[in-house]
Parts: sequence; structure tokens; C-alpha cells
Amino acid sequence: MSVTGLCQVCESATATRGCRQCGTNVCEKHFDRTHGVCSRCASVFGDGDDGDDGGPGRSGSGPTGMR
Ligand SMILES: [Zn+2]
Ligand SMILES: [Zn+2]
Repeated sequence: MSVTGLCQVCESATATRGCRQCGTNVCEKHFDRTHGVCSRCASVFGDGDDGDDGGPGRSGSGPTGMR
């Protein structure tokens, strides 16, 4: 898939990512790598604690409890 054009969120940066939820092309800044969606769709997930991804997605480089 080729992602070209501007980010549909800020409309100023080049879109380098595609939301797997709605298909919106967004830039790196507005792409939620945690869920693989755009910032708009990511807001739907909110701060949901139930990780339905069922995976150790949080292998971050930070201490426990980022909130
Ligand atoms: Zn953007
Ligand atoms: Zn989206």
C-alpha cells in the first residue's frame, strides 16, 4: 500500500502511516503505534484498561505506570 499525501489530522505533515481502523493517512505524530490507528481512532480507545489485544504490547522503555 502506498501512503501519499498529507496527514488528515494536522494537514501539514506528510502522511507516513495509515490508520488500520478508518484508513486515514496520518503522519508519525498522529499515529498511535500502540493500536496502529490514527489519533482520532486512538481517542476511542481512550485509557481503556482492558487490553483486548491480549499481548504484551507494553514492552515500553519506561517504568511501570506511565500515568
Ligand atoms: Zn499529523
Ligand atoms: Zn483512524
